[in-house]
Formats: sequence, structure tokens, C-alpha cells
Amino acid sequence: MFSNGVMRELTWVIVTLWALFFFCWVTNLWVEGVIAYLLFYIGRNLWSMRKFETWMAKGTRGSFPPSTGFWSELTYLVSKKQRALETHADIQLYKSEQFKAASMLIPDAIVSLDQKNRIEWFNASSEVTLKFRRQDIGSSIETLLRFPEFIQYLKQSNTQDSIISHSLPNPQRIYNLQILEYFQSHKLLIVKDITDLYNLAQIRRDFIANASHELRTPLTVLKGYLEAMVDTPGPHQTTWLPALQNMEAQSNRMQLIIEDLLTLSKMESETITMREEVVNVPKMLSKLKHDVEQLSQGNHRFEFSVEDNLCIMGFNEPLKSVFTNLLTNAVRYTPDGGLIKVAWFNDTNRGACFKVEDSGIGIAPEHLPRLTERFYRVDSARSRATGGTGLGLAIVKHILERHSAELKVESQVGKGSTFCCCFPARKVACH
Ligand code: ADP
Repeated sequence: MFSNGVMRELTWVIVTLWALFFFCWVTNLWVEGVIAYLLFYIGRNLWSMRKFETWMAKGTRGSFPPSTGFWSELTYLVSKKQRALETHADIQLYKSEQFKAASMLIPDAIVSLDQKNRIEWFNASSEVTLKFRRQDIGSSIETLLRFPEFIQYLKQSNTQDSIISHSLPNPQRIYNLQILEYFQSHKLLIVKDITDLYNLAQIRRDFIANASHELRTPLTVLKGYLEAMVDTPGPHQTTWLPALQNMEAQSNRMQLIIEDLLTLSKMESETITMREEVVNVPKMLSKLKHDVEQLSQGNHRFEFSVEDNLCIMGFNEPLKSVFTNLLTNAVRYTPDGGLIKVAWFNDTNRGACFKVEDSGIGIAPEHLPRLTERFYRVDSARSRATGGTGLGLAIVKHILERHSAELKVESQVGKGSTFCCCFPARKVACH
């Protein structure tokens, strides 16, 4: 019924009352005895209170103050709680020290930012990579990393993507910067040195670009001779004409592949260093409408629905290549008489979207995940027959990635396909 402390106090009072009773009975000093007992009881409590207060003021460190009854239990409970708190604090401190020590070993620079983008903490690599010093804690990151791409990246709400920069203190190195949001709008800036990876990719890009470039001239010469041989009448015509025509067709195909490979490597290397500009997509689409209608030669119906003034920030030529590829594919994979719907619109949730919907041959579901792989074709013969290289969607995917956009494909065999890509709202430049 009573707590430990009250029981102790009660026991103490009963024992001392018995002693008082005995004393009064022996001495017959009842009034004096009771007054003295009361004074003693109050004094004892005041003394214990004072001891307890002093002990608490010292931070409950040191030995327990000597006390009895309720006070001894209270002292015991407080010190027990205190010990538990101290153990918990020690564990937390240990964990935080362990985390800090581990983060010091990470070769990437890691910087923690508060809600106002002020530096709260950074690891040892930040001192080397970003040249941060202890005094920089509390400073705004914008005053230390001043290059425009970073400032723009820091301000954007969506931090899922990352940026590549050559502008950090060591210009010989290439870095990937990513900001992740964590714990109550705090941010973690992770700076990774990708120089080796980048250089390897550059070697691969250069190799493809150089090989394609080197093949271009001999192929042009061969094509020239083949064209001349096909067009020049003579005895060779009767026996060799079909072979010559086939050779001419194959060399045309090779030329298309080389052009696409060159485009791909150009996009890969250029979009990293190029600066984004305002792209007037409605104007671009009105030109492409004309081109695609010419390609169709009146065999398809077109419905264009383009939102005027909807421009985006991006790379002009690469975007043109994206739209051209998707429109050309719609024409090539839609039988004569089919309908091709093209839309450019602003979607409140998804941003600025480009959609091409055709009533063509469609694509079986198992092919959809692989469409953007280089040289992947659902039907190689058909792709070849329509002048395809198998590189178009790989180019599209790559360029869209550089615009933080993604290609979504929906298709049903025999019914048609829809290719859609949406550019995030932050890329919308005018509307
Ligand atoms: P290709 O030059 O062969 O068209 P792409 O990379 O542009 O190469 O496309 C890859 C493959 O995706 C194509 O070979 C084709 O099978 C399929 N494809 C692309 N667009 C369409 C479409 N609109 N309808 C049906 N199939 C398509």
C-alpha cells in the first residue's frame, strides 16, 4: 500500500514513538517528552533536507549523505536514476565518437548542414577535398563553395540527382556532389572524387568517337564508288547490279550507325561541360512536325497538341535529338494509315511532359526494360529495313538523364506504344 520510503519512515516513527513512550513512562515527563520529540523530528527532517539539497547541488556525485527513513530511500532512488542516465549518456557518447571516427575514415568528403545551409560538422576528408577548416563551422556553405552550378543545385528542392564539378579547390580532379536531406530538414553533402572513373569513361568515349570518326572517311569513299558503279551503265550491271545495290544499302546502314555512335559520344562528353540554356520547345516541335510529316510522306495521320510558351532549361541540340528519335520511331513502327499523337504539356505533378502515342505494332512487355540498351532491337530485321541502328533510344535515355528526366514506355502488341518523358518543374523556364 505504501511505497518503500513511506514504510521506512513509518517504521522509524513507530520505533522512536515507543522509545518516547518508555522514556515518558519512566520519567513521567509527558508534555516535555512530546515537545522534545516533535522538535527532534522537525530538526531531523530539516537537517536531512539540507544534506539532500547539498548532495543534489554537487550533481549527486560523491558519497550518499547519511540519512534515515524516507530520506535514505529518496537518496537511493535519485542516485539509481542518475547512474542509469550516466550509463546511457556514456553509451551515446561512445556511439557518437564511434560514428565520428568511422566517418573520418571515409574517403569522401561529408558535410552536415543545418536548415539554413550553415556547416554543422564535417569529416577529415573535407579538409583535404574542400579545404575546410575548423573555423568554417557555422559559416554558410554558399560562401565557401561559390560556383554557380552548386548554388543552383543547393537551392533546388529535389536533391535526388547529383552534379559533377571541376570547380572545387583542386581543379585537376573531378567530383560528384550530392545533397541528401535527413533529420528535420538537415542536409548531408557528400563529395566523391570520381576522377579515375570519369577518365576511364572518357577513354571509352574517346575510343568510340575516334573509331567512328576514322571509319567515316573510308566509308564515304566506298559509298561514293558504289553509287557510281550502280549508276554507271555497263556490262557489270547485268551480273553485279543486285550485289552492288545490296552493298550500297549496307554501307548506308553503316554510315547511319557511325553517325549515331558519334552523336552518342558527343552527347556524353558535351552535356557534362555544356551550360543549360532556355529551350523553346514549341518552336522546335513546329519544325520537327514538318520534318516528321515529310518522313511519313502522307502515310500517317498526325495530331499535335503543343502548349505555347512552355520552355525548359536544357541543352538545345540534344533535346532536338530526343524528340526526333521518338517521332521517327513512331513513324517507322506504325503501319500506313496509323495515327500518331504528339503532346507537349505542363503537368502539375510531373513537370513539362513530352508524349508520343502511336497506333503501331507495339512492343511485348518482356522487351520494354531493355529498349534503351545500345543495339537492342525487338525485331532486328524490321529495324534494319526501316533504317534503324538500335542506338536511338540509348541516345534518348542518355540525354534525358542529363535533364533529370526519365523515359516511360507503355505498349501493347498490335495496338500501339506511348513514349513519355517529363522534365521536373524546376526545369520549366517559361510558361
Ligand atoms: P532502332 O534504330 O532499331 O529503332 P531504337 O533504339 O530507336 O532503335 O529502338 C529500339 C527498339 O525499340 C527498336 O528496334 C524497336 O523494336 C523498338 N521501338 C522503338 N520505338 C518503337 C515504337 N514506337 N513502336 C514499336 N517499337 C518501337
